[in-house]
Amino acid sequence: MGGSVRLEMRFGASNYAPMPVTIVRGNGVYLWDDSGGRYVDMMGAYSAASFGHCHPRLVQALTDQARQLDTISRAYFNDRLGSFLARACTLTGMDSALPMNSGAEAVETSLKAARKWAYKVKGVPADRAEIIACEGNFHGRTITIVGFSSVPQYRDGFGPFPPGFRLVPFGDAEALQAAITPNTAAFLVEPIQGEGGINVPPAGYLAEVARICRANGVLLICDEIQSGLGRTGRFLACQHDGVTPDAVTLGKALGGGLLPVSLFLARRDVMQVFRPGDHGSTFGGNPIAAAVGLAALDTLIEERLSERSARVGAHLLARLATIRNPIIREVRGRGLFAGIELDRDAANAAEVATRLLQAGVLTKDTHRNTIRCAPPLIIEESQIDWAVDRLAEVLDEIARAKARF
Ligand SMILES: *Cc1c(COP(=O)(O)O)cnc(C)c1O
Repeated sequence: MGGSVRLEMRFGASNYAPMPVTIVRGNGVYLWDDSGGRYVDMMGAYSAASFGHCHPRLVQALTDQARQLDTISRAYFNDRLGSFLARACTLTGMDSALPMNSGAEAVETSLKAARKWAYKVKGVPADRAEIIACEGNFHGRTITIVGFSSVPQYRDGFGPFPPGFRLVPFGDAEALQAAITPNTAAFLVEPIQGEGGINVPPAGYLAEVARICRANGVLLICDEIQSGLGRTGRFLACQHDGVTPDAVTLGKALGGGLLPVSLFLARRDVMQVFRPGDHGSTFGGNPIAAAVGLAALDTLIEERLSERSARVGAHLLARLATIRNPIIREVRGRGLFAGIELDRDAANAAEVATRLLQAGVLTKDTHRNTIRCAPPLIIEESQIDWAVDRLAEVLDEIARAKARF
């Protein structure tokens, strides 16, 4: 075990349980450990590393801007923010954008916007606004957000939580319709649930949800922090259903894997509820974040990474479907966003991830005993093939070991 790991275990909090590997270098889809071992990164930092590690153009944007101007706060204009926000609005079909850093902050921003919009525009009585979210959601780790998580561990020990949230089953538009009241401000949804297990809703779900929201004067907020920016084969996952939401959150890949950059984007009449002093962030929209965010968006379009994700992702899902092994319960996904759910009695997804690590493939387990794959969008089909072969071997070994007992 390296010195840094010892120090991390001694001085760090144990809110993560990292797998037994120390990564020291990254390039494209590859990561290297401290003994020179090379891995294919099929995890992609939960979709933050969509451009591949240390993408030269993004590193250039970062270092150029770091030499020119760093954080100055939003007390002054800077010469980088405008073009970043404009580009993000054009690409998402939104009118305006508010920059934050982490994904959770963008989601918090969306909740504040929705509530204030409910009071100032919709006319909901003071402090009565309700926001509906989905069972199995993941929107971040603040107290408000975990307050409406359906994962007991995320909530345990962190109450009391702010009221004003309701959950409905994901993928069930009728349940949303039934949960709406005159005080409902917004419906917050991931077009494909990531952390929850790469859960793909029934076809047409989002279009139906958009219709219900519009008919009831409820804002539709799509959390595209994980599913957006090409991950599922479209720029936004909601575009598969031809839906333009009232608001969108972006994060993760928006920072090019280099630094945290997030955005809350919305229609003008929603965003206009924010007045100077209502909301903010010291680092949100700083020149380095804006320069990297703009370079990330430009790179995504110029390298045609959404199209690539659709094509190579179809290959990934097709290859996964060819694995004949009773351990696999279901393969789900869209684009380069795939979940392999394993039979709980036959294999533990965390153990499979550890064995894949030993075989040179980095993945991570998530809820529903599922292996999560969100590799960099620049991944080649041959690299996918190699990784899928390793998965097939690992599952084979487990199946054979079980058969022996
Ligand atoms: C990761 C994630 C978040 C939270 O982002 P952080 O940067 O970790 O705060 C929010 N929503 C979704 C859908 C996510 O996948």
